[in-house]
Amino acid sequence: MIKKCDHAGCTKAGTCRAPKTRDLKEYWFFCQEHAAEYNKNWNYYANMTPNEIEAEWERETFGAPLKDKKTANADAADYAKFINDFLTGRTSFDRAPRRALPGPVMSALKTLDLPVTATLRDAAARYRTLAKKYHPDTADDKKSAADKFAKIAAAYEILKKHFGKK
Ligand SMILES: [Zn+2]
Repeated sequence: MIKKCDHAGCTKAGTCRAPKTRDLKEYWFFCQEHAAEYNKNWNYYANMTPNEIEAEWERETFGAPLKDKKTANADAADYAKFINDFLTGRTSFDRAPRRALPGPVMSALKTLDLPVTATLRDAAARYRTLAKKYHPDTADDKKSAADKFAKIAAAYEILKKHFGKK
């Protein structure tokens, strides 16, 4: 017998496999449309605790864990919400039009070279890339890297606050 799509309320056949966990031991079964949506948002860090996510990222980025766990907690919560909303059919992929963004948010997006439609996930991903590039511990030109890193970190703080308000 053919299993139905695991997405809530979907009656199509679940013919596409999508990994539930990063060790690929368990799978969801979705119809093509829902598998595509799910895969688009698939997160390598699924099912890791916030501390594990952060420790792994820090090891990859700096070779050793740093102290602040807030970033990872926000990330993991964001991902858990996405999965929950996705499975209950509440995730809207067509975003409602945004209201005009406050000036500091616009500057922060510009600093991180992100479009006005960027999400917190986009900001986190960009922050990680840039933080890796400009972290004073890993950069060649330590003085200018420190300045740039401070700007990037400040911009990301602004975006986290902005997205957190919703
Ligand atoms: Zn479906």
